Amino acid sequence: MTKKFLVIAESRGSELKKSTQELLGLAQGQEVYGVLFGSSSAKAAETLAQMGVKEVFYCAEPSFDRYHSEAYASAVAELVEKIQPEVVLASATSLGKDLLPKLAARFDAHLVSDVIEAQVGDELRLRRPYFSGKASAEIRVPNSELVFLSLRPNAIAAGRAGDQTGKITSFQPAFDFGSSKIQFLEQTKASSDRPDLAEASTIVSGGRSLKSRENFKILFDLADVLGAAVGASRAAVDEGLADHDMQVGQTGKTVNPNLYMAFGISGAIQHLAGMRTSKVIVAINKDAQAPIFSKADYGIVGDLFELAPLIT
Ligand code: FAD
Repeated sequence: MTKKFLVIAESRGSELKKSTQELLGLAQGQEVYGVLFGSSSAKAAETLAQMGVKEVFYCAEPSFDRYHSEAYASAVAELVEKIQPEVVLASATSLGKDLLPKLAARFDAHLVSDVIEAQVGDELRLRRPYFSGKASAEIRVPNSELVFLSLRPNAIAAGRAGDQTGKITSFQPAFDFGSSKIQFLEQTKASSDRPDLAEASTIVSGGRSLKSRENFKILFDLADVLGAAVGASRAAVDEGLADHDMQVGQTGKTVNPNLYMAFGISGAIQHLAGMRTSKVIVAINKDAQAPIFSKADYGIVGDLFELAPLIT
């Protein structure tokens, strides 16, 4: 028995994000519907339909270009009423983390967030971490009950929903922006051509030991060679060595790359909380007793100021 999925897709301009393709990997072989927002969503909707999504609803209204939690929740709720899916699936990105709990509350339905493993059979079997990743639980969702599910980026391989090209439908949500309690004031955007930290498959990260903003350049140089994103510990961010959007950890971003290289990061539990599910962890630290080594697949004891340029 296939299940009905509604996938909340995310795009960067007209390109589908890799994390959205991972949602299709999870929903592979099921009856999958999709929704996309923003003025360039028609092109991304085409790609989504070519990836086996049965019907893609896109809303090209410019007022939906920017994420607006009330408007998005209301628009997705309309589609949930219309399609009657069993599973509503989004990535555990800033958008998915904000949107799904609202929707689950609205429908008085199950919410399973930050899923790292999933088996879709007669029942859904999901795994998600608890206590900053110290434990994880298997969650079974009873058949035919509505569940809202967010998937951690990089946890499941990207895939296609099916072989057939689906239908594309333009969609005009009923939401009235005039009655909204939320008013948009300003957006400040860090300009970077680097991969998004939450989605990156390689991350080079630095700690307090970098000592200055200028010194972070040695990590940016390495990241350029690897096509990597650059992350930082909270101590590095608090001391102004790195921007806040680079922070990895319990109060920063959760990342899940294939390769995480930690330069001069001690490995505090709050840092590990954000990166411990990385597939391969390489630690570079001058203290052989640093806790990060107990989580690392490979370790180099030495001075990062010598080693980072050498690795580059
Ligand atoms: P330090 O602990 O100072 O470690 C520096 C490391 O660099 C040491 O291991 C040292 O041996 C090594 N080193 C020094 N010089 C060199 C060199 N030249 N070459 C090689 N190695 C060198 N932290 C996070 O990262 N993310 C979070 O989201 C986060 N959230 C938190 C939430 C709460 C509620 C609290 C209480 C703390 C949180 N922290 C978080 C902070 C965390 O506890 C640590 O203080 C922080 O991670 C330490 O950062 P660090 O490893 O860069 O610095």
